[in-house]
Amino acid sequence: MGTKGRAIVNMDVNELLKLLNRAYSDEWLAYYQYWIGAKIVKGPMKEAAIVELEQHATEELNHALLLTGRIIQLGGTPVTKPEDWYKLTNCGYDAPDDPFIRVILEQNIKGEQCAIGVYKDLLAKTQQGDPVTYNIVLQILEQEVEHEEDLQALLEDFDLMIKATAGGK
Ligand code: MG
Ligand code: FE
Ligand code: FE
Repeated sequence: MGTKGRAIVNMDVNELLKLLNRAYSDEWLAYYQYWIGAKIVKGPMKEAAIVELEQHATEELNHALLLTGRIIQLGGTPVTKPEDWYKLTNCGYDAPDDPFIRVILEQNIKGEQCAIGVYKDLLAKTQQGDPVTYNIVLQILEQEVEHEEDLQALLEDFDLMIKATAGGK
């Protein structure tokens, strides 16, 4: 990386690179969980869910892009083998083996809540020592917060619709 760009980082760069590669692994797993979820989701309101799941898949892939850019800038190597995503992940992978829309939404909400925690920690760790990473992490965190809300709103609408149907309204 640029020598001055690295010199202004006032924290343990190797430790930071480990954390960034963990988050990078999370993003690829989140991307695939959304992407495959959008293909197989079933049930009422699935059209609305597909739009949201596909949008989130695209956004998770962009988070991976942002992270890999920073890892390379810091002189690190982004994870080269998908098998390592499983070893490094913070939030894991929830296979959508039950395609029912409600289950898929719940799984992805859980993933977003985990991601929000991970990025909140990374923000705290980079706040003093690395403003460039801090800014990238903040952008990602803002989007994870949006993702959680999008999915919880969908779930709420789904439950209201089921209730209305059951009530014969
Ligand atoms: Mg969205
Ligand atoms: Fe993400
Ligand atoms: Fe997300």
